[in-house]
Amino acid sequence: MTDDATDDARERAILAAAVPPNVRDVCATLSAAGHQAVTVGGAVRDALLGRAPGDWDVATSARPEQVLALFRHTIPTGMQHGTVTIVTGRGVASHVEVTTFRGEGAYSDARRPDHVVFGVPLVEDLARRDLVVNAIAYDPANDQLVDPFGGRADLTSRVLRAVGDPVARFTEDGLRVMRAVRFAAKLEFALDAATEAAIAPALPSLAKVSRERVSDELRKLLSAREPSRGLVVAARTGIVASILPELPLVDVAAWAARVDRATAGTRLASLFAPLARGQFDDVTVRHLDRDVAARVAAIAKALKFSNAEADTAGVLVGVAHAARWDAWNPAETRRLLAELDAKLRPLAIELWASDRSQPGEPSIAAKARHALDAHEPLAIGDLAIGGKDLLDDVGVPPGRIVGQVLTLLLARVLDDPALNTRDQLLAAAHQLVLELGG
Ligand code: ATP
Ligand code: MG
Repeated sequence: MTDDATDDARERAILAAAVPPNVRDVCATLSAAGHQAVTVGGAVRDALLGRAPGDWDVATSARPEQVLALFRHTIPTGMQHGTVTIVTGRGVASHVEVTTFRGEGAYSDARRPDHVVFGVPLVEDLARRDLVVNAIAYDPANDQLVDPFGGRADLTSRVLRAVGDPVARFTEDGLRVMRAVRFAAKLEFALDAATEAAIAPALPSLAKVSRERVSDELRKLLSAREPSRGLVVAARTGIVASILPELPLVDVAAWAARVDRATAGTRLASLFAPLARGQFDDVTVRHLDRDVAARVAAIAKALKFSNAEADTAGVLVGVAHAARWDAWNPAETRRLLAELDAKLRPLAIELWASDRSQPGEPSIAAKARHALDAHEPLAIGDLAIGGKDLLDDVGVPPGRIVGQVLTLLLARVLDDPALNTRDQLLAAAHQLVLELGG
């Protein structure tokens, strides 16, 4: 046997073992009825790479109505695109998406084909796909690989190439440039030179893609082991300037390396970290920068990140500058932490720890970690007395003054946590009420 034939047999054996039984059964049913049925796309690619495959997609020569007729439990998920979901058992994990081979008409809006045509051969269906590594098909019923564009060779050389003419393919659907850099990061592949060169001419198409789809890709890119592998390409091809024109990128390598170091919960914030204030005075450096927080949150929301993701990233970037100040004392540290919701404090520490703008771990990271580990009181809810104690034991009248007194007590406890005992706080409260004229 030739080397190619041995490779082919080895790859077929990998795929035969990887295709889940319910997917194999769906393909077998379609094949037995005289149709062609293949697995295709991300799962085939991932299985050949030895990565855990996600959803297995089936493509078939059968028309959607024929697919519906062949299976007992089906959901007509997207009949106009040719997609039927087969329910093979209990729960969504049992669902198998079957899509009729389709060719695509023109993309006059750079987002969606004007129309799809059924009744095309498999190679035409593969030809409309984005990247060569995503255009490999495997027919489990007949144990056959269909790889007309050289996807397996690209998997071996770890390169991403567009199917067909890269400028045409990226221009007809602007999302593909995002997918290209996402897969560069996820798979740790390089972009082929002609494919990378096609990104810049396709940026006007990217501008027309919905921001939800753009941020979905960005979110996936940020979950890669090393997002920098996609971010650096995105920056040098103009994708970053297109989707995040507000980001001041002076040192791309340092920015991307910082994103790599960031934890899962702080990746988005680290992406926006260049928006943190660079210049500050002695006072602002020790506090949450609310202007920066609001600006970052607004940019992230405009990109259709969720409110929770955007607000978290905003606040984290609003305290990012704290890592640039190296003389934090414990009381200042507690005051800064008190400006953050409890659930954001560990994330802020993670973000500070990933800042390497100075040698060694930033002072704020170590000091803040110590404060959290010691369970130091940082919020009104952590005080040894509450509003009811003020009403019952101090005789504070109901109303705004209750909150004012608690706020003043917290300020004292942030200065000196040893004051956080019931007796000391009740005494301090008596004094405060006199001072406030209550
Ligand atoms: P993932 O691991 O994220 O699921 P995937 O490659 O399976 O990666 P999907 O979005 O699930 O990505 O798409 C399945 C397949 O459909 C792709 O492998 C590709 O062949 C094709 N595809 C998806 N999006 C596009 C697109 N925008 N343009 C062309 N082909 C696409
Ligand atoms: Mg997929």
